[in-house]
Amino acid sequence: MKIVVLGRGLAGCFTALHYKYFSPYVEVELIHDSDIPTQIVGQGTLPDVPTMLWNTLEMNWYDNPIKATIKTGILYDGWGGKTDKWFHPFHLDSAAMHYDSHSLQNYILENGDFKVADRNINSYDDVDADYIFDCRGFPPSYDDYDFLTNPIDSVVLGRGPMSNIQWTQAIATPDGWCFVIPTLEQTSYGYLYNSTLTSRVKAHENFESIIDPDEIFHDFSFKNYVAKNPVIDERIILNGNRLFFLEPLEATALSVYMYWIRYTYDWIILKNTHPKEISSIIKKLIHEVENFVLYHYLHGSKYETSFWKTAKVLKIKDLKFWERMNDALSTKDPLTKENSKDYGIWELISFKQMYDGLQTKDLNT
Ligand SMILES: Cc1cc2nc3c(=O)[nH]c(=O)nc-3n(C[C@H](O)[C@H](O)[C@H](O)COP(=O)(O)OP(=O)(O)OC[C@H]3O[C@@H](n4cnc5c(N)ncnc54)[C@H](O)[C@@H]3O)c2cc1C
Repeated sequence: MKIVVLGRGLAGCFTALHYKYFSPYVEVELIHDSDIPTQIVGQGTLPDVPTMLWNTLEMNWYDNPIKATIKTGILYDGWGGKTDKWFHPFHLDSAAMHYDSHSLQNYILENGDFKVADRNINSYDDVDADYIFDCRGFPPSYDDYDFLTNPIDSVVLGRGPMSNIQWTQAIATPDGWCFVIPTLEQTSYGYLYNSTLTSRVKAHENFESIIDPDEIFHDFSFKNYVAKNPVIDERIILNGNRLFFLEPLEATALSVYMYWIRYTYDWIILKNTHPKEISSIIKKLIHEVENFVLYHYLHGSKYETSFWKTAKVLKIKDLKFWERMNDALSTKDPLTKENSKDYGIWELISFKQMYDGLQTKDLNT
């Protein structure tokens, strides 16, 4: 069997890595166009990413070829009406990482032990493979996508000197929020806002006056969406930004890609499921991630601005979300095994922590 992965961004790299290591009899080839650069964003993870890098490449913190720093959770600053700061932690005995995404991509390509080719692919007919993973980044049009509910659609990127914090910071701003990600050599900032409420010029001004990065180097807008058909013709599988995009609060992207890779593995290699079933499962998972992220906005922030007023009224319509929140608050032990990984990619304990950190009144629908 031959699998071809298109694209060498984080999605392409992790897809090729997974199939190479967990199905050694499959031929894996990654094809990318070096004239089309990969995303520079995507520097924060959940703990499953270091686990994957350990299991496949035996990467360790001492050698640290990807300029990584330890991430112990996410510090929310200025969110909700309850406390000034609250921390969404990982388990005390596990950690995630922040890294330089290009160093990570280079390291996987050099050590992943799969074939790599540099070629532009514009038609699936030009690819000789049993299965193709299309990880070519943002789609050229959104006709085959459904949009996700989220108040953010634009970002300004900046950087500053390195810092010693061991978590991602998510700082509420009048226009949205700003991530602060410490890597080994610098701190990365992303000022996220809604372009219908805040102009690009105003976002730049506010970024400079509130966060004061050393340098602002890029900005762009994006949509939040998920593919209607994650698998096409039982042979083409979309992953990465071709599959979905949701703003970066909670840094969920790479973990969702890895869930999807495992579901496709169950179909292609283990043959115990089929494309229709796994497509429905991944879409459900992405909608659960959408809701979990949305919850953070529903309690507003220390700012009474048009952004937060607009964000606060967005609704989570999935009753299961609210059921899980009630379960989290009523159970004596949200950490027990049967309560783990129950909604999206989160355990019940995360619901309780979110509630404790943010919620001031009952928002249940
Ligand atoms: C502000 C912001 C912050 C983010 N923060 C995080 C975070 O902290 N954590 C996280 O996990 N995610 C984060 N993300 C999501 C992040 O963007 C994605 O995880 C990541 O960029 C996925 O990119 P990709 O692999 O889909 O595609 P890309 O990185 O865009 O790579 C596309 C690849 O396809 C190739 N290609 C394109 N067209 C062709 C063609 N015709 N022929 C051949 N090859 C082609 C290119 O050469 C390239 O190799 C963030 C996103 C944004 C916008």
